[in-house]
This record gives sequence, structure tokens and C-alpha cells, in this order.
Amino acid sequence: MLQYKKYYMPQSLEELFSFLDSFQGTFDIIAGGTDRFAGEKDPSLRAEVGVDISNIAFFSRIKVEENLLLMGANTRIQDFLINQTLVDCVPIMRHSAIYFADQQIREMATVGGNLANASPTGDMIPPLLALDATIHTVMKDGSGICGRDISMGQFIKGVGKTPLQRGELISFISCPILRGYGCAFKKVGQRRSLCISTVNSAFLVKADFEGKCFEDVRIAFGGVAPIPVRVKEVEEVLQGAPITRQAIYDALEHIPLDMVQSRSRREYRKHVIWNFMLAGLYESLAELGIQPQ
Ligand SMILES: Cc1cc2nc3c(=O)[nH]c(=O)nc-3n(C[C@H](O)[C@H](O)[C@H](O)COP(=O)(O)OP(=O)(O)OC[C@H]3O[C@@H](n4cnc5c(N)ncnc54)[C@H](O)[C@@H]3O)c2cc1C
Repeated sequence: MLQYKKYYMPQSLEELFSFLDSFQGTFDIIAGGTDRFAGEKDPSLRAEVGVDISNIAFFSRIKVEENLLLMGANTRIQDFLINQTLVDCVPIMRHSAIYFADQQIREMATVGGNLANASPTGDMIPPLLALDATIHTVMKDGSGICGRDISMGQFIKGVGKTPLQRGELISFISCPILRGYGCAFKKVGQRRSLCISTVNSAFLVKADFEGKCFEDVRIAFGGVAPIPVRVKEVEEVLQGAPITRQAIYDALEHIPLDMVQSRSRREYRKHVIWNFMLAGLYESLAELGIQPQ
């Protein structure tokens, strides 16, 4: 079990930054702690202070602003199953949360922690990539508390790597509220329960008014390369294509051959991509009540 010399629980953003501003030593930011506490490999690398942000209300806000959903970094994975605003505005996150660990972990684990951990198979990442979400950060510089906006496509830089700097935290995530989309989330791992993904993927599909042609298709995969990817090649072929079995099978021919960059189990991952692509598109269409002919 991870133990710090000091454990600090600020109650407000001001308290957090007045500590981070003056502290010169090493610290870990902790939200739910499910990655942090499980991950210690070398105690000599342990930071001096654990800074637990779970009591800071600023990180837990969930609200709708016009056509955008804003969710605080401390939004728990379980919230995607039970919070009606989240269920209504970002249903794809619910599809992903269903497969996330178990309820005990979901009650603690946060979406901000999942992003900052930057695992190639973090289950919140493909849905947020498909949604074209934006990550909003907060930090303190000479002029006071400030922040910046980073598009989801620019946020994961490699395994465990993000653009976050020392003392910069994810404050909230904004997602466009996409109405009239069917969605699906597919995940495979080494076991049935408490399963960390080997490959995961998210699908968002919109049909035209008559339900005959694809109007918008978004497909994101994790676990096939160091960073999660949007499969633009297939998305673009399907845009405007008729919703038929043939058109879907033709589009799958456009899966890029070099898409799998993970070094292990490459052939297996290629099979998974093809199968997930087919199932994800069919399941998304089924949510819209459409069966490809
Ligand atoms: C048994 C078990 C099962 C799991 N199953 C899954 C699963 O099915 N799918 C999955 O994707 N993951 C899974 N995980 C991993 C983990 O639960 C998730 O990655 C979770 O979302 C991390 O959130 P957290 O709040 O617990 O992060 P923490 O452990 O608190 O933090 C993780 C990292 O993020 C940083 N951080 C946290 N919040 C912020 C912030 N606001 N700004 C900047 N940095 C921040 C921390 O400093 C740390 O580096 C599992 C873990 C366990 C132990």
C-alpha cells in the first residue's frame, strides 16, 4: 500500500494552489487513488506528499451550457451510470462505464484520473476522442489562477504522457451534446470481470433523416498504438454512404494496414479491430432502430 510522509486534503482551489505554489518538494495529485495506490512499483520513487483533490467542489461540477456538457475532472465513473444529465448528454460514456472494473472501483475512479494516467487502454479515452471533447486545465502562474484548453486529440502524447505540467491539473472536460446518434463501446481483455482492456473502441453513428445513409460516423480505438486513434479512413468512406451491409464491408477494407503499432499480439489485435468495427457499427445503428439491408 502506497504511503506518503504527508497527506494533504485542500478544501478549495485557492488552498490547493497556495500549497502547490510554495511547495518545492515532490507531490502526487490524487483523485480517486485507484491508479495511484495500485501502481507503486518502486517505493524510492514515491513523492513526499500526497495531495488529495477529492474534497474540492470545483473539480466535481456537472453542468450543461448551451450545447456543451461540462463535467468536472472528479466525475466518478459510476456517475456515468446514475447521473441523469450524464446519461442524457453523453450516453456513450455510460456504454463504456458499464464495462469499467466493478462498482467499488467505479465509485472512486474519476474521469480526470483516467485521462491523466494516459494508459493506452483507459476506457474513458476512446469515447472522449470520438466526442471531440476538450480538456480544460487549471494552474497558477505569476498573474494568478489560469488555465488552458487542450483538444482530446492532443492530450494523450504516449504511454503515461500528457501535456500537463507540474502544478497543472485537469479541471473539467467539455463535450458537444450530440443528439440523434447511436453509440457503442467494445472492449476485450484477458478475463471477464475486473478486466483491463487489451483493445477498446467507441462508435458514434448518425443517419440521415430517412435512415438510409450515414450522416456522421466517428470511430476511436485504444490499445492498438501508444496513443488512441480515430479511424478517419473508415469514417470518411462511410460519410454519405448508404446504410447497407455491402457499404459497411467495403468500408472495412479501408482499415489502415499499419493501424496496429503495439508490438505484442499484432495479428490478434488486427482481428479484434475488424470484428469490433463491424459489431460497433451494427450496434450503433441498432440503437437508432436501423438494420442494414
Ligand atoms: C481493480 C482495478 C480495476 C480497474 N479497471 C479499469 C477499467 O476497467 N478501465 C480503466 O480504464 N481503468 C481501470 N482501472 C484503472 C483506474 O481505476 C482508472 O484509470 C481511474 O479512472 C483512475 O482514476 P482515479 O481518480 O482513481 O485516479 P488516481 O489514481 O487518483 O490518479 C491517477 C493519475 O491521474 C493523476 N490525476 C488525477 N486527477 C487529476 C487531475 N484532476 N489533474 C491532473 N492529474 C490528475 C494522478 O496524479 C495520477 O497520476 C482499474 C484499476 C483497478 C485498481
